[in-house]
Amino acid sequence: MSNPNQAMVEKYRSNFLKEVEANVEEGHWVKMCMQCGVCSGSCPLGPHWEHPPQEIFMMIRAGKREEVLGSSSMWMCTSCYNCIARCPRGLPITHIMHGLATYAKRLGLQPKTQPTAKFSQLFWSNLTKTGRVNELKLGLSLYFMNGFANGIKTALKMQDVGLGMYKTGRLNPLEILGGHSIKDTGGLQKMLKKAFEIEEAKIAEYKG
Ligand code: SF4
Ligand code: SF4
Repeated sequence: MSNPNQAMVEKYRSNFLKEVEANVEEGHWVKMCMQCGVCSGSCPLGPHWEHPPQEIFMMIRAGKREEVLGSSSMWMCTSCYNCIARCPRGLPITHIMHGLATYAKRLGLQPKTQPTAKFSQLFWSNLTKTGRVNELKLGLSLYFMNGFANGIKTALKMQDVGLGMYKTGRLNPLEILGGHSIKDTGGLQKMLKKAFEIEEAKIAEYKG
């Protein structure tokens, strides 16, 4: 098997629930869902999604792997925590939704045109380099994420916002040269490495 997605298909053939339990943050909770629908009914955005949370959990149990991992729904969760507060079974729904999005991204199955998926990656890369968000670079990468022509168009459309931010000291053009950072970027990298190790160990422990 040449890529992570194919490897997982092979490993968990016909058992998507098991795959979710072993690889998705808090995924072992999915089997506890009793399909009452309270989460979907409480989600302020659910009605506008392809699949609200309750449906996602039902689809996982039904083995609908491609539909779940390719769905844009998880990417639109705003972490409002309404669903968690109301779930009678106490499922950490928000975390599962983000966990599913992260797992889909890890396998390269996230919807290619989903803007939040793109933004998440840009934000993470921007932040983890120096420990501080370089707003100028982040803004520019967002404008140009769909190509040069689109970038110019968006930059022109947003020029008043940019100017307003500059005038109020919220945007420093010199940040293009590198920008500010935390004192100990090496420490940050070590901390992130450790966090990844802990996550991997947690997954490995669950897999037994
Ligand atoms: S509220 Fe909880 S138990 Fe009910 S459908 Fe949602 S996740 Fe399942
Ligand atoms: S946390 Fe996400 S899934 Fe839960 S209600 Fe809010 S938007 Fe919906």
